[in-house]
Amino acid sequence: MSLTYCEKFGFDDNKIAERLQWLELSVADHATAQQLQQDIIQPHAEAIVATFYQWLPTLEEAQTLLVDDELVARLKQTQSRYLLSLGIVFDQADYFESRLRVGQAHVWVGLSLSLYQCAYRYLGDLILQHIDYRHHDARKLTTFVYKIIALDMSLAIETYHLTHVRTLEESLDRSQRQQKSLRMDAATDSLTGLANRKTIIDELERALQQPPQAHHPVVAIMADIDHFKTVNDTHGHLVGDKVLIEVSNRIRSALRNFDEVGRYGGEEFLLVLNGANLTTSKNVAERIREHVSSQPVNLQGLEIQASISLGVAAARPGETADSVLARADRALYAAKAAGRNCVIIADA
Ligand code: GH3
Ligand code: MG
Ligand code: MG
Repeated sequence: MSLTYCEKFGFDDNKIAERLQWLELSVADHATAQQLQQDIIQPHAEAIVATFYQWLPTLEEAQTLLVDDELVARLKQTQSRYLLSLGIVFDQADYFESRLRVGQAHVWVGLSLSLYQCAYRYLGDLILQHIDYRHHDARKLTTFVYKIIALDMSLAIETYHLTHVRTLEESLDRSQRQQKSLRMDAATDSLTGLANRKTIIDELERALQQPPQAHHPVVAIMADIDHFKTVNDTHGHLVGDKVLIEVSNRIRSALRNFDEVGRYGGEEFLLVLNGANLTTSKNVAERIREHVSSQPVNLQGLEIQASISLGVAAARPGETADSVLARADRALYAAKAAGRNCVIIADA
């Protein structure tokens, strides 16, 4: 359900009462509002509107908005209705609702707040011109006209202000989301959706930079799909891509939440395990190996048996990323040499 304008702009009973208090509008003003309608507006509404719309097109900015006669006719009707309701039950939420709607409509048509204010000064003057100083309590009527116009102006200011703030907030929100998505794109491998090479190496470096007293062991695992060239050669590159995606998904789903995996290169992956000792890391690596090879990758009836070899290296205190990667890579090489589909742990 969409919000009313009062809800949208925060006009609850308290705020309405506060605004009326600011303008010194009270129940005593209802009688003046009645008199204003009966003696001034109702008899002269048509003339006021006609004069107003003779004057408005003399302003350059207004000309750009008053594009055709049909629109002007509609605006005249709206203004006529507006005048005939001016001040009637001004202390009710419905009154505020209709006035806020008018303010919002002006924002939408692109009328500037300054022009709105200046035009309202003219409209107010047209009303005041019909006060007959011989017969009316002119001071009371004039004061009421000022107050009721000030009420509408204050509401219009709120609608302009808040609508622009909202628009800015929305565009800020949009650009933040775009930025986030660009950052994601820049950090992600487009084929597998895993972190890309730079991101996962940064992650390893960040993990290695934890202060030694944190007792936060870091383990790097290099993993490589076995005989992947054969998959490409046998089934084509597209099938190879799908196997690569499925193996990536299997690796990711076998990892703990706080571990990271990225595509290091072609069909090679780098895993960074945070806070894992060698035994845990070996178990994680075994679980991943098992998860990848436990059942063939099924591609619409075509079944391809995949497996990976893994080399595990626990970072030594103060060891650089390059060094730990080189040891993990050597362990991976050893796993290939040992017959593939297995895990080899580098010397501590
Ligand atoms: P090993 O068990 O020794 O790792 O053998 P292998 O065939 O996996 O190793 P090799 O390095 O000879 O071949 C890797 C292949 O991976 C070659 C390359 O074309 C393929 N490859 C790398 N990236 C992609 C990719 O994005 N998509 C596909 N389909 N193939 C890729
Ligand atoms: Mg390979
Ligand atoms: Mg390889």
